[in-house]
Amino acid sequence: MSVQRLTIVVAAFDEARALPVLHPRIAAVMDVLAADGLEARVLYVDDGSGDATWEVMQGLAAGDARVALLRLSRNFGKEIALTAGLDLVTEGAAMILDADGQDPPELIPRFVAHWRAGFDDVHGTRLSRDGESWLKRSTAHLFYRVMQRLAKTPMPADTGDYRLLSERALAGLRQLRERHRFMKGLFGWVGFNRIAVPYARERRIAGRTKFGFWRLWNFALDGVTSFSTAPLRLATYVGVLTACGAFAFALYVIAKAMMYGDRVAGWPTMMAVILFLGGVQLVALGVIGEYLGRLYEESKQRPLYLVSAWHPAPGPGVLADR
Ligand code: UDP
Ligand code: MG
Repeated sequence: MSVQRLTIVVAAFDEARALPVLHPRIAAVMDVLAADGLEARVLYVDDGSGDATWEVMQGLAAGDARVALLRLSRNFGKEIALTAGLDLVTEGAAMILDADGQDPPELIPRFVAHWRAGFDDVHGTRLSRDGESWLKRSTAHLFYRVMQRLAKTPMPADTGDYRLLSERALAGLRQLRERHRFMKGLFGWVGFNRIAVPYARERRIAGRTKFGFWRLWNFALDGVTSFSTAPLRLATYVGVLTACGAFAFALYVIAKAMMYGDRVAGWPTMMAVILFLGGVQLVALGVIGEYLGRLYEESKQRPLYLVSAWHPAPGPGVLADR
């Protein structure tokens, strides 16, 4: 049997202060895995950081032959950075990890054990979230529940990108080249044998989250529009309901005019109805616009990312020079 390989993929954007703390932890885990007959590598993806992240990464690669580096031409966002990293893992499994230490690398051997038992998608499910605001925790909680109801693709609740993917799951994922990449949904689409590893999400090692509320809101919109057409259907239903309401109201107005005559009155009701209908129409148009905009983005067929630098891990196997 050939050697089993695992590549730990870490997307980092402005994580110069966290990486030096995180890497020794990853290195220790790779030692443990090596003792267990698994050849582990780590691939750091610099997602166009503005700080010293790339220099820090080069330092790590100089001191550890198991480190490969990829640098994107600018900041493309976490989903694309992960895609770029996973695209390179064509052999063995990949483990996705945040660069800020929120996903503890010490748990990787548990993911590996499940993988060796035949699972393709071993995902970390958050039991708790340390160091995150009440508002973020509660909106995240709500978001996962709404997504589960809306999307037909299975998406386990409270599950982020912290996961291990087998070689065939990765091969499946590589075929999904859509531009608005909602990774949780894409992982779910791929399917195969899935199992959850419950864990406590830790506090960031250093720095601040890059996902503020506006970004999270847009991320949620991407998730909904990429994996559900429910908003379009909702627009239809709202339209049908208002049309029924309008019809009933018209009957009432006609009956009233026939019984009591038609004096010019009812300006407030008319304004209210016009404004209400105008609002409903604009919302429906906006919903259509959201989907149309995404269709437009897809139709451009741009590459997902551009690479500015590539540093292979020395030695044979995965992530060697290609
Ligand atoms: N990240 C990235 N590109 C970005 C934003 C974030 O590669 O444009 C990385 C970041 O360095 C970290 C991970 O994605 O490793 C998660 O980001 P963050 O910790 O800010 O999000 P949170 O954990 O608060 O959801
Ligand atoms: Mg984080």
